[in-house]
Amino acid sequence: MPGENRCSLCREPAVVRLIEPERRLCAAHFIEDVEARVLAAVRREQMVSPGDRIAVGLSGGKDSTALLLLLHRLLPSSGATLVAVTVDEGIAGYREETLKAAESLTAELGVEHVIVTFADLFGDDLDRLLTGREGQGCTVCGVLRRRALVEAVKRTGATKLATGHNLDDEAQSVLMNVLRGDLPHLVHDTSTGQPGHFVPRIKPLSVLSEKEIVTYLLLRGYFRDLPECPYAGTALRSEVRSMLAGLEHRHPGTMLRLMQFRDGVRRSARPTELAKALSTCRICGELTSGEVCQVCRLLGRG
Ligand SMILES: [Zn+2]
Ligand SMILES: [Zn+2]
Repeated sequence: MPGENRCSLCREPAVVRLIEPERRLCAAHFIEDVEARVLAAVRREQMVSPGDRIAVGLSGGKDSTALLLLLHRLLPSSGATLVAVTVDEGIAGYREETLKAAESLTAELGVEHVIVTFADLFGDDLDRLLTGREGQGCTVCGVLRRRALVEAVKRTGATKLATGHNLDDEAQSVLMNVLRGDLPHLVHDTSTGQPGHFVPRIKPLSVLSEKEIVTYLLLRGYFRDLPECPYAGTALRSEVRSMLAGLEHRHPGTMLRLMQFRDGVRRSARPTELAKALSTCRICGELTSGEVCQVCRLLGRG
């Protein structure tokens, strides 16, 4: 029907159709809608307090680019400041381009930018650390990158770390924890850390789907087609990703339902029991569930 595909808020042509509530939006209203939803999540979950110095984990990829753009727009009103941190793992053919993208974005926005390298922190590039275990690339890198980010954040003196995890990432993690029978990880977000140990983590984009993030970047003129990490994805996550994509397409709202399920489980569980099970690594002093942390084990320390 002519006139059907119009913005629900004005008469401009609609560029997206969203659910819950059902609405069609033009470019300007979609940008407004995305920013309002992120700001609402930041306030609802009290992610930011006045005086906070927020370190944004900026890989240079689409999620973290959108995260920095959004926080740069939304945070000044909350009395918090921003600093971007990038981890250079030393992945040939991948990191050079994303690093350049990260540098030009922080320069354009006037945001301070701190870069740490695997070579500097762990004595070698990821490519070389992985020799002989290339198949485990994503797992090894994930462990080391989380530690490197913590290190970078410490260097900036930031009070919180913001990461670009989106709704798809979070829904995949929920389903993966269910499929692995991993209740502790379902109940307790290890990334949020413990008072006195880690810098608290916030995930302001967890209310946006990957598709919405790409659309937001395209509409603001920041979408860039960058190389994917050559080590990307564990086997289980790739399977869960394609399964969830199919379910979300046939049953819109599936990912949101999964998040509501996780939040319900978290509310009814007692995470303090799990927190008690954590101790400190006898080699590096970071928080771990065993005697020696994953980083020290991967690096063959001790
Ligand atoms: Zn409109
Ligand atoms: Zn350790």
